[in-house]
Amino acid sequence: MRNLVSCDILVVGAGPAGGATALAAAQRDARVLVVDRRQVVGMPVRCAEYIPAMLMGRLDLGKSFIVQRIRRMKTYLPGEPVREMRAPGFTIHRDLFDQALICAAIDAGAGLMTSTRAVQRRDDETVLLKRRDGQSIKVRPKIIVGADGPHSTVGRWVGAVNHHLLAGVQVTMPLTAPMDWTEVYFDPEIYAGYGWLFPKKDLANIGIGLKTTPRNPVRTRAVLERFIARLRAAGKVTGQIVGSAAGWIPAEPVRQAVYGNVLLVGDAAGHTHPITGAGIANAVVCGAMAGKWAARAVAMDDPGVLHHYDDQWLDLFQDTLDHAHRRRQTMESFWQDFTGTVRSCWIAFREYYA
Ligand SMILES: Cc1cc2nc3c(=O)[nH]c(=O)nc-3n(C[C@H](O)[C@H](O)[C@H](O)COP(=O)(O)OP(=O)(O)OC[C@H]3O[C@@H](n4cnc5c(N)ncnc54)[C@H](O)[C@@H]3O)c2cc1C
Repeated sequence: MRNLVSCDILVVGAGPAGGATALAAAQRDARVLVVDRRQVVGMPVRCAEYIPAMLMGRLDLGKSFIVQRIRRMKTYLPGEPVREMRAPGFTIHRDLFDQALICAAIDAGAGLMTSTRAVQRRDDETVLLKRRDGQSIKVRPKIIVGADGPHSTVGRWVGAVNHHLLAGVQVTMPLTAPMDWTEVYFDPEIYAGYGWLFPKKDLANIGIGLKTTPRNPVRTRAVLERFIARLRAAGKVTGQIVGSAAGWIPAEPVRQAVYGNVLLVGDAAGHTHPITGAGIANAVVCGAMAGKWAARAVAMDDPGVLHHYDDQWLDLFQDTLDHAHRRRQTMESFWQDFTGTVRSCWIAFREYYA
């Protein structure tokens, strides 16, 4: 027996994009239902857990998820002096961050179903949900928001699929000494990507993000192991690995995010920065826009206003994301000429902005 649930806005995914969308829409009195296939929002964590200070200024979620302050970023290129730049921000407990955002949305009136996967959009404008216990639920929303990450199911329904994905693999292990900066390492073997060391008090997230195919994960692991060995030899990290994570990072060209009554947000929309791989802030900022326009469309009973969401996020992010995507194409095409290419493909160098 299928239950039929009605709501104004169905948000698929309770990550930063979905949480921010739900919060903004519920604050404007829309009836919002968020579903996530995970049992616990934010778990397991697949993230290096850095957010820019700018994002904290936009949110009113308290500080429970903050681990430490970050002031600078150091970039390492082989055979060159270390490049330093300001990078004010924080490392966070990403699971607590996602939970704080979704709790704020619930406080504002949104509903949440975990262990619930959106599986199908049907011709009668309903969406079929499957719960982990096998139960099926039909939802009849006025607006559907795909905030369901890099391999978005909702994106597939409207023919907007991420094709350009980078592999991210990471471990967490003890730091030898506290740091209030992040470190980024370029190396010819980290193909069209970089390695990172992000401190979390006495621990560090150490990972690599690189261009690869799902068919050669072994090589990715081997590159990560050599990167860890390098950091151990440099005396930066020590001891045993206490955690590991892997995920996919979209590196897409800019495209529309509104398809009739369907909006895409965050990784599902390719809002992630194609060079840095940072996506939390863009997901939250675009989510706030999507939630606002979705609620307005409901209040006015006019899906036509949804196109303002595209106008607004493109106005803010298009130039930056377009530029980054062009740099990514350069990076992937000319990686063999590592020394000649890399400075124009990383945000710490003037050549990047030229
Ligand atoms: C290794 C790694 C390190 C990273 N480090 C950083 C970093 O330090 N800083 C930064 O800014 N960005 C980082 N990113 C990118 C960042 O994690 C993403 O950009 C961000 O999570 C995007 O948020 P989102 O809400 O769009 O998607 P997600 O966080 O992926 O959330 C999508 C949610 O949708 C749910 N879902 C998926 N399909 C369905 C379905 N069919 N039905 C129901 N639910 C579904 C998932 O369970 C998930 O909870 C990193 C990424 C990786 C892989």
